[in-house]
Amino acid sequence: MTIPRFKTIKIDSYKPGKSNIENIRNPIKLSANESALGVSPKVRRILSRTDLNISKYPDGKSKKLRKKIATKFNCDLNKIICGSGSDEIIQMICQLYLNKNDEVIVPEYSFLMYRIYAKVIGAKVIFAKEKKFKISIDEIIKKVSKKTKIVFMANPNNPTGTYLSKLELLHLRKKLNKKILLVVDDAYFEYMQKSDYESGLDIFKKKENVFILRTFSKIYGLAALRIGWGHGSKKIINAMNKIKPPFNVNQTAQIAASEALRDRNFIKRSVKHNLVWANKIKNFLKKLNILTNEVSANFFLLNFDKSKFSAKYVFKKLELRGIILRSTEEGYNIKNKLRLTIGSARENIKFMNVMKKIFNK
Ligand code: PMP
Repeated sequence: MTIPRFKTIKIDSYKPGKSNIENIRNPIKLSANESALGVSPKVRRILSRTDLNISKYPDGKSKKLRKKIATKFNCDLNKIICGSGSDEIIQMICQLYLNKNDEVIVPEYSFLMYRIYAKVIGAKVIFAKEKKFKISIDEIIKKVSKKTKIVFMANPNNPTGTYLSKLELLHLRKKLNKKILLVVDDAYFEYMQKSDYESGLDIFKKKENVFILRTFSKIYGLAALRIGWGHGSKKIINAMNKIKPPFNVNQTAQIAASEALRDRNFIKRSVKHNLVWANKIKNFLKKLNILTNEVSANFFLLNFDKSKFSAKYVFKKLELRGIILRSTEEGYNIKNKLRLTIGSARENIKFMNVMKKIFNK
């Protein structure tokens, strides 16, 4: 039989953090930066309701949820669009802005979906070098050409865990040609406790040439429901609504996300949990000569260059004992490092105990 010809797309497809290990039941998954405390009990209660109306199409505009988001984050409902994960918003931005041979700048080590969606359209992805695993404004500016349409970055950055301060972000926007869209991905902003940091939304709410990404997959613990949102100028949002799949966000996700926004206490607890455990784990790893970035989001990039064992060796040993970290070689192309998500108390303790055994301490 003949297969009608399709386009050849030269990309490495996204490989998520591993979630299972052969022959090990209920492994500890510290590979995907998910919520350590799961989901708010209030959201869980709503999700256990039996009258969720799934036989009708959802509200394609996610209007009630957008209203709640607008109130909570003090922004205009008409500048918000919801997506099936922030992934889908990244895809829509690429569809809207890019033509074949346009250029997109991404930091050397950055979330893979920026480059994947850009390449799917046929755009050229230009990598800006980082300095000590931190995004460099100078390197980004060096890469700008007449063809540059978008600069993507997450702040704090995944997988490096480093961040740009408010002043640095403002400086970047000032240096960058006004016609280039700056996309700031706030996926992990809730965890940030640094005084020189401010979220992309808070800094750039009023800027027409900055687009912000947010997600319910991280601190809110709704990764499986696939829901995120974007904030941008009304013109951009209107154009995105034209290309948006009609019912992209399911109703259960819309209801759960609305409820999640109301539970401030859960967010507070999650932030505190993250801070306490991130500090403990950082100090613990230091004793094994495994260095990390500063405490920032809900994960660390572990550097094994000074350690007795290589990243690969430790990854395998942990896996044998049912603990999964994220290898950064595949996709990110970072050698001798691993990414570790801060887990629940039980998971963190288990991780540290197993590490002690591996290192014979
Ligand atoms: N942006 C960043 C920086 C991420 O790390 C992730 C998830 N790993 C996403 C976006 C995607 O999130 P979502 O589940 O909302 O698609």
